[in-house]
Amino acid sequence: MKKIIKNAAAAIITLTVAISAIVVVRTLNHTRPPFINIAEVNIQLDEAKLAANLAAAIRFKTVSYQAAPGKQNQEFSNFLDWVVATYPQVNQVLELVLVNQSMLYKWQGSDDALKPILITGHYDVVPVIPGSEKNWQQPPFSGNIVDGVIWGRGALDDKSGVVGILQAVTYLLEQGFKPQRTVYLSFGHDEEIGGRNGAGAVTALLKEQGVQLAWSLDEGSFVFDGIFPGLDSLMASINVAEKGSITLDIVATAPGGHSSMPPQKNAVGDLAKAITKLQDNPVPGGLSGLSTAMFDNVSRYMPFTMRSLFANQWLFGLVIDQQLSASATTNAMLRTTTAPTMLSGSIKTNVLPIEAIATVNFRIHPRDNMRSIEDYVTQLVASDTISVRTRGGINASTVSDWNAKGYGDIVQSMREIYGDIAVAPGLMIAGSDSKHYGQVANNAYRFNPFVLASHDLTGFHGTNEKITVRNFAQGVRGYIQIIRNGSET
Ligand SMILES: [Zn+2]
Repeated sequence: MKKIIKNAAAAIITLTVAISAIVVVRTLNHTRPPFINIAEVNIQLDEAKLAANLAAAIRFKTVSYQAAPGKQNQEFSNFLDWVVATYPQVNQVLELVLVNQSMLYKWQGSDDALKPILITGHYDVVPVIPGSEKNWQQPPFSGNIVDGVIWGRGALDDKSGVVGILQAVTYLLEQGFKPQRTVYLSFGHDEEIGGRNGAGAVTALLKEQGVQLAWSLDEGSFVFDGIFPGLDSLMASINVAEKGSITLDIVATAPGGHSSMPPQKNAVGDLAKAITKLQDNPVPGGLSGLSTAMFDNVSRYMPFTMRSLFANQWLFGLVIDQQLSASATTNAMLRTTTAPTMLSGSIKTNVLPIEAIATVNFRIHPRDNMRSIEDYVTQLVASDTISVRTRGGINASTVSDWNAKGYGDIVQSMREIYGDIAVAPGLMIAGSDSKHYGQVANNAYRFNPFVLASHDLTGFHGTNEKITVRNFAQGVRGYIQIIRNGSET
């Protein structure tokens, strides 16, 4: 007996040593890619002029209202006039087509055999919530530049993109640059309300002309500074897909009646149980495909302990999954998320409901689709008294190739500007115009070449949206390199 225990102990020790050795070796091999052959580029820009142009763009109240599309149209046409007046070189060399109030520019390349690329942004912005103006340190449409910071709605989302692209093309034209590939620029006017009349119509036009793009670059993720936990280097997160969305009504039915003689079960109680069940059973997900690639890339820049986890997913997969699922941000990258948002029941305090409804919004991971989510929910909660009704939605985009040349060109450009930073493919949790443009692009990337720190996050669709002059100028350099590298073979 003693001998058996002794042998077992010895076996356990040997196994532990062996596993530890594998963990250490795999961790030591899980390192950042070598930073070779990437020379920093020197691009001289008049930063004060760039800043003044972004500030001027911000002053146009090109606000998209969900309830009243087309409201304040004059601001939109004023903005278009301003673009034409402010960027004469662009308008001399590039061909402009107005599609509703969106701008599509074509910069003819020297080699027609090459598929074109599209660089795009949107110039509409979300409204400022009435009453929140007083929380802004500078008025939201002032475009004030104070201590090297440009303030206002659109500073990040996405006038910095639109003006940044126009500045980049202006610079390249001044340098006498001629693209080999045709370069399209598109500036949408209704992204914040779905983009149907802007990016949607532009896409339809390109389709009609038989244009198929090698790739497109739209707004999306940023160069993160301190946003990704455990990472001390900058990280360019280049989104290669965007989530879809479906909204389902969970409907509980019951006979109703007077509340003075309630039955033991009623529609509200049934509905509550169904919602609890949904919350307790998140849509299956986890590390696979794109999410694996993303965390695999990023973890290479992390300290040893974190690296050891990701380098040994065969051993720590479950732990990683649990950790990532516990945080709202990383959980959203791993699976289709479930968010009950609206409730309705009886119309009167003393009337039992004949119908109680919970509206639940799901953001669809590319591995799922609208059908599969509806099926999953139906299987989970449907019964004699509970049914599931769809309010419609949109599937997730296809996943673009992060080994393709276009992706490589963006990576290369970012490293030429920002040095040896982490780069990883990412998943866009919000929507963008690329749901349209992606239909005519072999690959659709979603990324803004500006740096974003965690304190900037509240600016998106919120208060105190701003960007530093320095950051804006670096982003313009980013666009210059992306267009330069991306339009060549
Ligand atoms: Zn945007």
